Amino acid sequence: MAHHQILIVGGGAAGITVAAQLKRARVGLDVAILEPSADHYYQPGWTLVGGGVFSLQDTHRAERDLIPSGVHWIQDGAAAFEPDHNRVITTSGTAISYEALIVATGLKLCWDRIAGLTEALGQGGVCSNYSKDHTAYTWEAIQNFKGGNAVFTCAPMPIKCPGAPQKIAYLADDVFKKKKLQANVIYATATPGIFGVPVYAAPLREVVKRKGIDARYNHVLTAVRADKKEAVFKVTEGESSREEVIPYNLLHVTPPMAAPDVVAESPLANGAGFVEVDQFSLQHVRFANVFSLGDVSGMPNSKTAAAVRGQAPVLVANLLALLDGQPLEAAYDGYSCCPLITGYGKTIMAEFNYKQEPVPSFPLDPTKERWSMWFVKRKILPALYWNRMLTGAQHERRFVPGVR
Ligand SMILES: Cc1cc2nc3c(=O)[nH]c(=O)nc-3n(C[C@H](O)[C@H](O)[C@H](O)COP(=O)(O)OP(=O)(O)OC[C@H]3O[C@@H](n4cnc5c(N)ncnc54)[C@H](O)[C@@H]3O)c2cc1C
Repeated sequence: MAHHQILIVGGGAAGITVAAQLKRARVGLDVAILEPSADHYYQPGWTLVGGGVFSLQDTHRAERDLIPSGVHWIQDGAAAFEPDHNRVITTSGTAISYEALIVATGLKLCWDRIAGLTEALGQGGVCSNYSKDHTAYTWEAIQNFKGGNAVFTCAPMPIKCPGAPQKIAYLADDVFKKKKLQANVIYATATPGIFGVPVYAAPLREVVKRKGIDARYNHVLTAVRADKKEAVFKVTEGESSREEVIPYNLLHVTPPMAAPDVVAESPLANGAGFVEVDQFSLQHVRFANVFSLGDVSGMPNSKTAAAVRGQAPVLVANLLALLDGQPLEAAYDGYSCCPLITGYGKTIMAEFNYKQEPVPSFPLDPTKERWSMWFVKRKILPALYWNRMLTGAQHERRFVPGVR
């Protein structure tokens, strides 16, 4: 049986970052990443692919070029977790044992939970920035739009980057206004409000009002009738619910999301299927040598790559403490950041923690739309991701002992 001191399952934003930080902290560690994909995408860039600013290629790198020096890459997937035996069984049938395990598989996109969506996607104006296969088509659909209803949906939480479904609505609205099209931009969201963090929801409500966007809350997309160009929603009103059919000329869909089955069906899962870790230490509540970070982890933070920046140094400190027989003292404060693009050249840099307090990285009022934050989103954050975060070079100031 293969054995590694530290086995990381998933080589996405979280897996690569934590591997790089572990090797920087202790070069002699035997670290392996189990990741089937040869391709790595900077998913936060997909909003700007859909908005015609980046190409899909701009967001792509070969996985092999990102694996930190000295880390073993096992190009295979996890098919089963056996934490009682400290081992993972891979898709090809190999067993890998470990001293410590880090689960970082990200989320699965549940397109098939919406009737007719899989067949409709990628044609007839039905697009989604949530898939590498369809985000370029979003820009095509926006450019081809001639007027009528442009409908943007948002699925029930948790989803990755809860701001992304509305960002593309604001960009599309800018394009339509510039072309002087007769457009009804409808933002139909499963959530009861525009954004979960009150201090940022207030300016977003103003943005929606200023742009004349028709925001409809508690709207869950259930079906797409591509032949009639209709989107079907279940609308909850108090105790009751009703069906609402909205005709569309353009439909941007945010699919429901869940933990991958291999995690959800494992002994590591909580009731919702996510990895059941302590929200501060990131250590599993039942298996002491198991940790998790990124989208698949069960903490109640907003699921973003930015959150990984806050989580990775905490996880590394606590994992090393565990290996050394020391107490686990580092704590994650729930940091997340959603650069809320409100149009071309405008962004609200929404940074917040578990307590929903603003925790801005810049000495500026974070609730304001700014060109400077658009510049940060467009130029700085991608460079930070590739050159500092994934290389483990970023020193994260949110390493907060005693935050509990
Ligand atoms: C449209 C869009 C816009 C976004 N905007 C932003 C933004 O503006 N700011 C921001 O911070 N974040 C944003 N995000 C969210 C961000 O991309 C994610 O939060 C981040 O990628 C999470 O990292 P992760 O490593 O947990 O998951 P991922 O990066 O998705 O990586 C998971 C990895 O696990 C692998 N994997 C899956 N199953 C298995 C298995 N069984 N065995 C082994 N490996 C497996 C996958 O192949 C993948 O490589 C956005 C995402 C999208 C889609």
